[in-house]
Amino acid sequence: MARLRLTEIFHSLQGEGSSVGWRTVFVRLTGCPLRCGYCDTSYAFKGGDWWEPDAILDEVARHGARHVTVTGGEPLAQPDCLDLLARLCDAGYRVSLETSGALDVSGVDPRVVKVMDLKTPSSGECDKNLYGNLDHLTARDQVKFVIGNEVDYRWSCEQLEHYRLSDRCEVLFSPVAGQMAPTDLADWILRDRLDVRFQIQLHKLLWGDEPGR
Ligand code: SF4
Repeated sequence: MARLRLTEIFHSLQGEGSSVGWRTVFVRLTGCPLRCGYCDTSYAFKGGDWWEPDAILDEVARHGARHVTVTGGEPLAQPDCLDLLARLCDAGYRVSLETSGALDVSGVDPRVVKVMDLKTPSSGECDKNLYGNLDHLTARDQVKFVIGNEVDYRWSCEQLEHYRLSDRCEVLFSPVAGQMAPTDLADWILRDRLDVRFQIQLHKLLWGDEPGR
């Protein structure tokens, strides 16, 4: 396995998805081919440092957490990310991968929980969605819609129905922080009786936009 370019490794509480609230080590890989309008991790687009695989494993171990999330940027933009995921699984961690949905997930180790976005219209990157990825999701994986307005919500509902997403995996609906009123989104989900999981990013409630939290 070759070196990987990382922006940061940090220890926090998982803020999203089915592992929300668990102490987790986050490995943030540098670089992303997308430019979503609401991106809150643009500091990971460039820079970073090259890390040897063993050094990544050592730094993860230092925090003594069971959960590890590999994120970005877009982690799969570095092909050796696949080896890192497998090595983390081999080491006994509960591993999740946060990915944009724009890159092929078929090579991801099946032990990894995939948390995959379908980019909504207001992201500006909707045409990058790789719908073939949906065939590689299982019941333990998650599809996430980050919703910025009512157009995004309606579009997300259409995808939900067209691809029967709730039958494939867990589906997350999340408001764009500071842009979409969480209560409106919650009310729409109840009104329309959707089989989706509403979520607000826990880490933003606790620490705002502070990097590395
Ligand atoms: S895919 Fe993620 S990291 Fe990349 S621009 Fe979009 S929100 Fe930002």
